[in-house]
Amino acid sequence: MRRALLLGSLLLSLSSLAAEPTEVQVLKAARLFDAKTGKVFTPGVVVVAEGKVVGVGPKAPIPEGAKVVELGDATLLPGFMDAHTHLTVEPGPDWRKDVIDSFQRTIPEQTLDTLPWARVTLMAGFTTVRNLGAEDFIDVGLRNAIARGIVVGPRILAASSSLSSTGGHCDYGNSWRKGLLAHDASPGVADGPDALRARVRETLKYGADLIKVCATGGVMSFNAEVDAPQFTQAELDAVVDEAHAHRRKVAAHAHGAEGAKRAIRAGVDSLEHGTLMDDEALELMKRKGTWYVPTAFAFHGVKELADKGNLPPDNVLKLKAVDVRREQVLRKAIAMGVRIAFGTDAGVFVHGRNAEEFALLVQAGLPPAEALRAATVNAAELLGVSDKLGTLEPGKLADVVAVPGNPLQDIRATQKVFFVMKEGVIHRHDTAPPSPAPAR
Ligand SMILES: [Zn+2]
Repeated sequence: MRRALLLGSLLLSLSSLAAEPTEVQVLKAARLFDAKTGKVFTPGVVVVAEGKVVGVGPKAPIPEGAKVVELGDATLLPGFMDAHTHLTVEPGPDWRKDVIDSFQRTIPEQTLDTLPWARVTLMAGFTTVRNLGAEDFIDVGLRNAIARGIVVGPRILAASSSLSSTGGHCDYGNSWRKGLLAHDASPGVADGPDALRARVRETLKYGADLIKVCATGGVMSFNAEVDAPQFTQAELDAVVDEAHAHRRKVAAHAHGAEGAKRAIRAGVDSLEHGTLMDDEALELMKRKGTWYVPTAFAFHGVKELADKGNLPPDNVLKLKAVDVRREQVLRKAIAMGVRIAFGTDAGVFVHGRNAEEFALLVQAGLPPAEALRAATVNAAELLGVSDKLGTLEPGKLADVVAVPGNPLQDIRATQKVFFVMKEGVIHRHDTAPPSPAPAR
């Protein structure tokens, strides 16, 4: 089923690529979600030329000979953005095998493995992602291959190696201590402000777009307490100061309140997970305008792994530790008006399920329009790409998705994306009427 669908979309993207670059396309649907105001307008009309939006709304002038794409009882939205993915990994059916495989697969093999994951992410409507942590600059290579048009996938902002303290959450080599094969420290490992500054420079030198830093323990590693801080204030200050001097953003992984507060005080641009943050941390975020990327679906995904017996026992305990307050913290952050950007941690669950995050945000109290804004305007602002993306306005890149019905009435419509355009190229257009919500 999926194979047939992928083949269909491949044929479509090939034919779209073959189209004249100057061809004008007009996308028509019953509605359009205006990410700027959070309102839905009727009817939805987007005029696209040379990969950009040139007109929006029923009054937009339509040149003669334009190709009209009728999308029916659907809503047009800006391409979704996921501010937290791991396109270079995916859990298999057996965690023991995953661990051993991770040491036996060569870098080229790991790189090729990412191709279907990148494709399925784009087909789910995510035209831009931020990849927060990948070894060996695989995400940089994947980003470049997609940008050059030789691989189908979302536009990527790559962090490459996550910065970690020795033995910390993102020191993947040191974390596998169960008698299995272990490699040396991960390339992003450094201790002390000066060494961390050097890591930031090195990471940017080899092509990263931004810096990811692991400020506390985490769920999916085998070492350390999940809430324990793993960098000092001086270390985090150095990371942020160095990255910002290069005009690059910093995303901090944190669960515990102390590590989160050190990261927020240091001035990170976004705080990822934040499952055990206290009120002081949330107030600090609100005051400093730090973006919160809750990755709510990550924990559902990991829970599914645990239920299937596909999560090591140590990690099940860590999952339980963060799950105690996770939902409460998200609910409180939303109620307090902390700025939320959409991110999932895709890669700790199978790729392509990113849109399942929307319903969890709404369930935690975010109005549907705000959940959609989190994945469009807000994410664009966090990623620093607001000039090109995030809304459907003349002059912006033509990243457009369509979902059946009205997502403000049923947020789960976002899980039924049936049309995907990226920079004017149609990558997916299911012609059969969209089926009811897929039970996955
Ligand atoms: Zn992550």
